[in-house]
Amino acid sequence: PGIDGFEICKRIKQDAILKDIPIIFLTACTDTEKMLKGFQLGAVDYVTKPFKSAEIISRVKTHIKLKATEDTLRLNVEKLEAANRAKSEFLANMSHEIRTPMNGIIGLTRLALKTELTTQQQDYLTKVDSLTQDLLGIINDILDFSKIEAGKLNMECINFSLDEVLEKLFNTVYLKIEEKGLELHKIINSDIPCYLVGDPLRLLQILINLTTNALKFTEKGHILITIKLIKLESNFVKLHFSIKDTGIGIASKTIPHLFDAFTQANSSTSRKYGGTGLGLAICKCLVKMMDGDIWIKSQLGKGSTFHFTSVFSLQAKKEYVKKQDTFQIINDFQGARILLVEDNLINQQVAKETIESENLVVEIANNGKEAITAIAHSEFDVVLMDVQMPIMDGYEATRLIRKHKSQLPIIAMTAHAMSGDKEKCLASGMNDYITKPINLDILFTVLEKWIKPKARSSPRHKKNDETVELPKELPGFDIDSALKRINGNKKLFKSLLHDFGQGYQNAAIKLRTALDKKDLETALILSHTLKGIAGNLSATHLQDAVQDLEFALKQGGWNDILMDNVESSLTQVLESIKTITQTKTKIEKIENNPTPLNISIITPLILELSKLIEKHSTNTEATLAALKTAIKGTAFVNELKQLFNCLDNFEFDNAKNHMKVIALACDIKL
Ligand code: ADP
Repeated sequence: PGIDGFEICKRIKQDAILKDIPIIFLTACTDTEKMLKGFQLGAVDYVTKPFKSAEIISRVKTHIKLKATEDTLRLNVEKLEAANRAKSEFLANMSHEIRTPMNGIIGLTRLALKTELTTQQQDYLTKVDSLTQDLLGIINDILDFSKIEAGKLNMECINFSLDEVLEKLFNTVYLKIEEKGLELHKIINSDIPCYLVGDPLRLLQILINLTTNALKFTEKGHILITIKLIKLESNFVKLHFSIKDTGIGIASKTIPHLFDAFTQANSSTSRKYGGTGLGLAICKCLVKMMDGDIWIKSQLGKGSTFHFTSVFSLQAKKEYVKKQDTFQIINDFQGARILLVEDNLINQQVAKETIESENLVVEIANNGKEAITAIAHSEFDVVLMDVQMPIMDGYEATRLIRKHKSQLPIIAMTAHAMSGDKEKCLASGMNDYITKPINLDILFTVLEKWIKPKARSSPRHKKNDETVELPKELPGFDIDSALKRINGNKKLFKSLLHDFGQGYQNAAIKLRTALDKKDLETALILSHTLKGIAGNLSATHLQDAVQDLEFALKQGGWNDILMDNVESSLTQVLESIKTITQTKTKIEKIENNPTPLNISIITPLILELSKLIEKHSTNTEATLAALKTAIKGTAFVNELKQLFNCLDNFEFDNAKNHMKVIALACDIKL
């Protein structure tokens, strides 16, 4: 009376404290509808009169048991959830704690890379830099994922430009795309609004994640990025992005689990490609937070396409996404490979770094013979050919190359600026001719002419060398013209000066000795090399002085005035170099005041080592150790270090080059 059983059941089930008490209806009412109502209200059982007490006791016992199990389960789930939250919070905190010193490590490595370094140190630090980037990527993934799990990841809601996001995507991936020799295409419909409101970094994160995955799992072919409009209202837009690759694809049975955390398509994936298996799980959460969906279509062996949609508010500013040509440039540069045939190490470095700063790929051959081998083994778009080289000169190399490759553009690159030289180059089969020291504009105009339709206006990736200071004036040098030649790379210029200072300290003495001995051939080689390098460094007085001497030597008559001129210009240049390379470490200071070489000790060692290198022998340790002692404190420490490096890596040809420099400097005939 007053309140019936159904009403009591309803109220108990609504009460936070009482709701878990199991309720069994005991009633004379056998009507099925009433019984169903009881269950709907949350009862666990419904027993009709007349009762059998044994049955009721059994039912009650069963429900009490069930209730106990349920309680335990609920408690465990609560415990698990709490533990999971604690884990996620811990991970989020830890990742944050790890990131702080990581940023320090990355920053300091970058700073260290901007200082003067030996090749070996540069190599180590570059690797440290790249590894820390990988590590930071993993830590960021863990941080993001744990933030998402702990419910702590927030989306920004700020104005941004889709153009800028796409440009950043491009800048992040293009080097890797180029390295792998893939093509990147984009199709962006002309109706995509550019100025949006949302979280640009998170959008970029999804795009980078999917594009780098595409890159990672694709060995040849292309990657296609498309953006389509799904819906455009007055205040929001829904976009459809897709990233398609021609890579390894994914088996259909794996696809349903792909977006789960820590999932990789197969266990060999992590061994072969690395990765955490978190990227897609994070993308899925981010896409969800942008009111979108993510899905994939893939066929094993044929490639994958990842799709996602997302919703953004619109800014008042109304413009469409630009047709970004940057993506196309990649295509234009794709495969633009240059073979640089040049025997001089400094010239090699200048030309290589300059050309590479325009995103062309440069391979080096040290002489005509190596060029022929290189061309036999790989494809090049153009050959830049020095004329005067040891072992095989440019004319002969060109004649031999022409027997098999009639179409390959070969451009002579030489310090021979005499009239008639051009004709000689063309007659040997070369297509064009540029003079050293190289003028950048001319070089690129000529390259553009011969590697059409490849554009040369790709985004420049100059090394950040703002911290490298150079004086306005440097006696003996035309700094402006020198920098122009190497694309404004001050750091490179400084290191070239440093190398020159080390390698050519005794050049005047050697020249004079050769002249005194009437060894015109050696004098001519020395002056020719010196002239070329002086030209590259825009050491204009020195270049002129050596040129005069060279000319006189060729005519068979020279005089002391010409030699004095060379010597005084060289002294001026070396003095200038000293003033700007003084900010060095102790060790390098020692190298700047080298002890003289003891030729009688060094000669047999060099000859021995040269034989071993020629044989590609790995048994060089003893000779190297002796040479190290003999060369200690002299100007050739650096060259020797590089030689050691090469031998460590079994790069015998490069080792030979360093050998040659040392031998030439010591007047040793190999
Ligand atoms: P990670 O790449 O760090 O392992 P992801 O979550 O980004 O983690 O990817 C999970 C897995 O999905 C990868 O390990 C790979 O097996 C597969 N996968 C992702 N993208 C592609 C793709 N474009 N082609 C083939 N497999 C892919």
